[in-house]
Amino acid sequence: MSNSRCSSMSIDIENLNKSYGSFAALDNVSLEIKSGEFLSLLGASGSGKTTLLMALAGFVRPDSGSIRFGGREVVFQPPHKRDVGMMFQNYALFPHFNVYQNVAYPLKLRGFSREQIRKRVEEVLALVELDHLIERRIDEMSGGQRQRIALARAIVFEPKILLMDEPLSALDKRLRETMQLELRRLHERLGMTVVYVTHDQREALTMSDRIAVMSKGKIQQIDSPVNLYERPASRFIAEFVGESSCLPVTLRDGHAWFQDAPLRSAVAVNGNGSNTACLVVRPEKLQFVSGHSEGFNLLHGRVVDVIFQGETQLVQVDLGEGAQVSIRLPSRRSESAHLPVKGEVVVLGLHPQDTLVLGEAR
Ligand code: ADP
Ligand code: MG
Repeated sequence: MSNSRCSSMSIDIENLNKSYGSFAALDNVSLEIKSGEFLSLLGASGSGKTTLLMALAGFVRPDSGSIRFGGREVVFQPPHKRDVGMMFQNYALFPHFNVYQNVAYPLKLRGFSREQIRKRVEEVLALVELDHLIERRIDEMSGGQRQRIALARAIVFEPKILLMDEPLSALDKRLRETMQLELRRLHERLGMTVVYVTHDQREALTMSDRIAVMSKGKIQQIDSPVNLYERPASRFIAEFVGESSCLPVTLRDGHAWFQDAPLRSAVAVNGNGSNTACLVVRPEKLQFVSGHSEGFNLLHGRVVDVIFQGETQLVQVDLGEGAQVSIRLPSRRSESAHLPVKGEVVVLGLHPQDTLVLGEAR
């Protein structure tokens, strides 16, 4: 395994529904996941992520709809026949077993020979850099080590599909970020199809080929991390993925107006038929300009706060009429760059390319 790539499989989900009583946990979900893709399901708690993952694993039986692995229908297949690797938040290792016994378990279930098992377990433990702790008991290991063992156990039988449900959420921030990069590299190396559940937008942005954002049992948008961030389809997505301010605008005469000035936008205005909408502004898209800067949409205001946050400073600007925006500036700036101070009157420039007007969530 350490030298070879796993093979992978596509996943086609079509019109999947699952209700608990009158509550729709999955509301007509359709999703095509490419073979070898790293896809994240991102959403707040209760949005249906685990239900969808459990339907893929075979532990939740959908009311209707289809799930195909590599083109083959699996909806009526029991979990053990689907042969997917799984890793969960509470990774359910056997605490009294040692590392070797835990990782060997899925191979034993599948009837591998003793020699095959030893060879594979050693290989996969080398892959997660735990081969030196092979005899150690689980209850003598740290959270990060346990998490790696759970990963080793999930991939030891070389599944074509790996399902992970918030596998890093029990770890502290530093370890979580290290493991995110490790999982990414492991996926690059092994190449299996991964469906990864998280409620953490930064984690999803860091790890995924594509992200499906879920809310209320539906997929609201599916796209690459960059597109999701740069071109959110709704205000809901804009606010869920990354930081943003929402400035109220009115839509008339084919323009979006902010405080009596029409906005130039290179992006299609998505007003959802109403005449009020939201100018979505990311803090790093704004810059301080002089009052006559051509080519920008200009916002006039007064600095209300400058907050030092380490590598960046957050400057909050009051635009009047109850509207406020935040601007993020690198803390390390050139000598000539002016850092605004509290109370200063400023003009902010927003490029038409970054001028995004969106209606409410669908
Ligand atoms: P997520 O993983 O995004 O937090 P879940 O898929 O676990 O969300 O749950 C989605 C919704 O379905 C939640 O409102 C949850 O309460 C409900 N739900 C999940 N499983 C059950 C169940 N077995 N019985 C009743 N309601 C459930
Ligand atoms: Mg969940």
